[in-house]
Amino acid sequence: MDTKTFKRNLQKSENYYRRGFGHQEEVALTMEGEYKSSLIQAIRENGYQITRGDITIRLAQAFGFCWGVERAVAMAYETRTHFPNERIWITNEIIHNPSVNQRLREMEINFIPVRDGVKDFSVVRKGDVVILPAFGASVQEMQLLNEKGCIIVDTTCPWVAKVWNSVEKHKKKQYTSIIHGKYKHEETIATSSFAGKYLIVLNLEEAKYVCDYILNGGDKEEFLNKFRKASSPGFDPDVDLVRVGIANQTTMLKSETEAIGKLFEQTMMKKYGPANLNDHFMSFNTICDATQERQDAMLELVKEKLDLVIVIGGFNSSNTTHLQEIAIQRQIPSYHIDSASRIIDANRIEHKPLHQEVQITENWLPPGKITVGITSGASTPDKVVEEVIERLFALKA
Ligand code: SF4
Repeated sequence: MDTKTFKRNLQKSENYYRRGFGHQEEVALTMEGEYKSSLIQAIRENGYQITRGDITIRLAQAFGFCWGVERAVAMAYETRTHFPNERIWITNEIIHNPSVNQRLREMEINFIPVRDGVKDFSVVRKGDVVILPAFGASVQEMQLLNEKGCIIVDTTCPWVAKVWNSVEKHKKKQYTSIIHGKYKHEETIATSSFAGKYLIVLNLEEAKYVCDYILNGGDKEEFLNKFRKASSPGFDPDVDLVRVGIANQTTMLKSETEAIGKLFEQTMMKKYGPANLNDHFMSFNTICDATQERQDAMLELVKEKLDLVIVIGGFNSSNTTHLQEIAIQRQIPSYHIDSASRIIDANRIEHKPLHQEVQITENWLPPGKITVGITSGASTPDKVVEEVIERLFALKA
């Protein structure tokens, strides 16, 4: 499909909105009341730290809501104000944060139901308003909603749209897009829908496997099996890895995306020679600033002497998970929670260890004077961080 032309035509349609509705000031006030925190502001002004009794909190210097998320949530609020009587749907969680999604439910913004793992769009009727979340929607979903005669409010973050443009450039020049991401993540599903041929690699290890295949060949069946769910239909590693372009899910670890890009560049250089590199390798910088800033701030935070780290964010939030990975790399005890209520008491915390199910850990809070590092993912409002800090104060201060 010519996704570029489809997008261009959609954007010209009178049923398509992507710039809000002129209720920004009113919505900004509401959001400030619901999501901002005076305690967090005070901690920021105090050099990102605060001590009460036995506990010192050190906040990362960049954390929480990024502008892409804030913009998407504000547009959802504006949509409700602008269409007070219409049925409003959202194709997915607007962002990966349970409290924000709950707030939207209270505003009667409905989530498209999922049955047996498949979204059921039959509930959507002509004239309904449908919001596309910050991490976008697949081109097939957009097409379907457009054909149904829905009003589309597109809150896709411009950084995500920039990645879509990159994969469209790969497609135009018949390069295969190598997407660093999680094949099940909504953003990567959307990105791959704009690509031509694509292969999704989760990490450096998978990238090395692919590069080894490019240089030395290998077991084609094993390759296809390994990337069964992470490649375009009819993908053939012997034919489709001759020209590659790099793209990424915007919330992956920046250092890993860069390492994967370098690895493919070196591989193509080795295989085809430096003089021919441009005929076989293409790369654009599409790492989102906000993700990068939060990761850099976390790298600084873990240099401090911390007894433990609390990482706050939705359990399905990719960028939050990557923040926890940084604490793990430094061997600092860390707990990923999505709300203050997960801190049951001074002995028990319910949290999600990396790549594991949610579980309860006992004796998590050390006795005596402690320093706790705190950060939060790009979809977490300051209010949630404040509630966690208040909970810690209640237990230790
Ligand atoms: S993390 Fe980056 S790409 Fe994602 S919504 Fe925020 S600004 Fe946009």
